[in-house]
Amino acid sequence: MEISADPLCTRELVGILAVPLSHTSRAKGDVELEEERVLTDWRETARCKEMDPDLFFPVGTTGPALLQIEAAKAVCRQCNVRENCLGYALDSNQEYGIWGGTTEEERRYMRRELTSRIAH
Ligand code: SF4
Repeated sequence: MEISADPLCTRELVGILAVPLSHTSRAKGDVELEEERVLTDWRETARCKEMDPDLFFPVGTTGPALLQIEAAKAVCRQCNVRENCLGYALDSNQEYGIWGGTTEEERRYMRRELTSRIAH
């Protein structure tokens, strides 16, 4: 499995995971809504903003889906908010689709690795 080894990205991910948005159990007030707005503003400049979302949600991981995954990742590689997108996907446990240039399987691997590093 090929995982991006960008150290800047990994540092940011550790920081994001240290204060996960999803750990907020209270009803969202103005402050929480503003924080969430800031955290998701990156979507405005996403490379995929005007694209068909289906490209980023391949069905399966073999055959034609592999070509679709590679096509989606190629878009992500040219995206200026890739790290924000990946951080958001990890933070909010997005189980499906290509986010920040990663598949769900790659994100599961990253979560396991990061959780293991934080625990030690
Ligand atoms: S990294 Fe990929 S999925 Fe995420 S915003 Fe950019 S183009 Fe879209």
